[in-house]
Amino acid sequence: MATDIDGNAVASDVRDGLQDAIDTLADAGHRPGLATVLMSDDPASETYVSMKQRDCEEVGIEGVHVEIDPEAPAEELFDAIDDLNARDDVHGYLVQMPVPDHVDKRRVIRSVAPEKDVDGFHPENVGRLVAGDARFKPCTPHGVQKLLEAYDVETEGADAVVVGRSEIVGKPMANLLVQKAPGGNATTTVCHSRTDDLAAKTREADIVVAAAGVPEMITGDMLSEGSVVVDVGINRVDADTEKGYELIGDVDYDSATEQASLITPVPGGVGPMTRAMLLWNTVKAASEQTGVDVDLP
Ligand code: NAD
Repeated sequence: MATDIDGNAVASDVRDGLQDAIDTLADAGHRPGLATVLMSDDPASETYVSMKQRDCEEVGIEGVHVEIDPEAPAEELFDAIDDLNARDDVHGYLVQMPVPDHVDKRRVIRSVAPEKDVDGFHPENVGRLVAGDARFKPCTPHGVQKLLEAYDVETEGADAVVVGRSEIVGKPMANLLVQKAPGGNATTTVCHSRTDDLAAKTREADIVVAAAGVPEMITGDMLSEGSVVVDVGINRVDADTEKGYELIGDVDYDSATEQASLITPVPGGVGPMTRAMLLWNTVKAASEQTGVDVDLP
């Protein structure tokens, strides 16, 4: 049986570690500010945004929320973006995805001022990450890196397989693992929906990061004994629960835990880290924009 990686505990350590930095910035008259922009009435997006606002409140980051009617012309969103780019009290912000079909998503990503782009999706920030000069590491892969570090998982020289090649998880995750830097130096393979014989790849891996969005697709027989398994997947499946659904990962936990040495549960693994690293990026943004030096955990 593998040991569970406790994402709630590591996320709580990250938040505690940010507290000094937030206090230092606030004492200097620059309380960090994070804005969320929502142009959607999708309940899941509404929940994500309200969780981010609650996280801010808990650590003393000033939360700002902007809501745009999903039926409104795209220019209303771009005006709000211009406004946030200009505000001194907002050091970081994000536009909750997905945006409606009539809004050009790529233009949204390009319009966010790179120094306030705490999601790390702007092409300038993607380029800097790939070049080994990251400004903001995207929150989920950064959180995975912190989890591996917290559990002393050696990435240097390890064979790592990332399942998924999205812009927000798979690609930046692979980029971080392959960098010549602490938490990197892994021999990294990226698998995706067109990969031939996925199991043959994952069986060779010391570290598997599953980010495909396919419920329980990684089973114990696809893993090598003693491997480290990080399950990024959050899949909502119908279930006989109060809410009518449950959240399950991309890894079949019961069979995987028999093979792995360390494994992240869902929930309570990567999810809390994604939220903590958004706060981390916001504090970094505030420090860089105000010139107030702080130590980041
Ligand atoms: P996505 O749909 O954008 O990308 C999925 C990727 O998986 C694609 O690149 C695709 O090629 C690959 N894929 C799909 N089916 C596959 C298969 N059968 N075999 C191999 N590869 C396959 O999804 P995403 O935004 O990267 O998110 C992935 C999962 O992670 C989702 O469940 C999402 O909800 C979850 N997620 C969790 C967090 C978190 O904080 N824990 C954050 C972001 C996303």
